[in-house]
Amino acid sequence: MARIVMKFGGTSMAGIERIRRVAQIVKQQADAGHEVAVVVSAMAGDTDRLVNFCREASSLYDPAEYDVVVASGEQVTSGLLSIALQSLGAKARSWLGWQMPIRTIESHSKARIETIDAADLIQSMQDGQIAIIPGFQGISKDGRITTLGRGGSDTSAVAIAAAVKADRCDIYTDVDGVYTTDPRIVTKARKLKTVTFEEMLELASVGAKVLQTRSVGLAMKEGVRIQVLSSFTDESVNYTADDLPGTLIISEDEMETDDMERQLITGIAHDKNESKITLTRVPDKPGAVANIFEPLAEAAINVDMIVQNVGRDKGETDVTFTAPTVDLDKTMQVLEAAQPDIGYNRLISDSNVAKISVVGVGMKSHAGIASTMFKALADRGVNIQAITTSEIKVSVLIEEDYTELALRVLHTAYGLDSEDAT
Ligand code: ASP
Ligand code: MG
Repeated sequence: MARIVMKFGGTSMAGIERIRRVAQIVKQQADAGHEVAVVVSAMAGDTDRLVNFCREASSLYDPAEYDVVVASGEQVTSGLLSIALQSLGAKARSWLGWQMPIRTIESHSKARIETIDAADLIQSMQDGQIAIIPGFQGISKDGRITTLGRGGSDTSAVAIAAAVKADRCDIYTDVDGVYTTDPRIVTKARKLKTVTFEEMLELASVGAKVLQTRSVGLAMKEGVRIQVLSSFTDESVNYTADDLPGTLIISEDEMETDDMERQLITGIAHDKNESKITLTRVPDKPGAVANIFEPLAEAAINVDMIVQNVGRDKGETDVTFTAPTVDLDKTMQVLEAAQPDIGYNRLISDSNVAKISVVGVGMKSHAGIASTMFKALADRGVNIQAITTSEIKVSVLIEEDYTELALRVLHTAYGLDSEDAT
């Protein structure tokens, strides 16, 4: 017997038919003798709709009331799932954020969970009642409803799993696991059996969005094992809790004994949402780079890759960096205003770039990962515009039009291609 937290995303909860299917999946686990708590998202699209209502009501809406409105989507689905489970003959009840309670800090629309009082919840699970918990919501010290930021139900699920000391947190979504790379682009992409928390954080932050990044950080800190799997299975599929059909996200220690046949590289991610900015002929002296990045930090612009080129003759250098394309206009404005302080010659931007990252904990103990990447790209005539590395990641910036080619070439170069796909 195990204690499992199951989480269902918005596409899994979109409509009564799907909620009925979710109820079956949940009941299978309960019938197998497991203690089950379920965290649900709002129906797909509903939170967007509610956010828009707030904006229409007033562009200067009160964030506390915004939370009251947007948290309601999950209240609906948690009640509906309880009803669906009851109609299958299961014992189930909803537990709203304030009923447990899930205590958060006060900052509305982007609250963080502080504590969860799970004693009553655990008691009711032990009594054989399935607990249905709306994700995304909590309660502040002064008793008002808060929400955790968009995509926050993943974080709710991991936090509940930590609070009830669950054996696992199963996150059901519309994909059946985490892949070596985007399977829509590379047909030979393979589903991974395991990924470490660290790898998942790197893959998520560079665009492979399966889970909210914050939830992975929390799982790593609390040691919550996550499984990502699909709820879009037909009724003949009957998992017991010992089957692990999806991808497990676990610590590196657990991994070592778990998956001996792992490749050096776990996955390859891409991100087309960054732009490249270059400042030419910046004075090559102490403080010059600080003059560039201080005003950007004050404007809350999230700078990613940074390259300072080799100095030119006259004590000058070029500086290149990347920032999110949505912030490109703001970035250019800030740098134009700071021109007298920085003292650059030209300011050039290019949004036609993509970042490709290879990620794997195997890199820690192996040389030659980066050179394989550079050689594979060079052989296909793909030019590298910037490079960054971390202990488990190498990222390069290339022209956006080469993204698909680069993913395919690298997937093959690192031996990740599946044998059965064509
Ligand atoms: N319903 C919320 C959102 O769409 C939270 C979630 O589903 O994770 O952002
Ligand atoms: Mg989600």
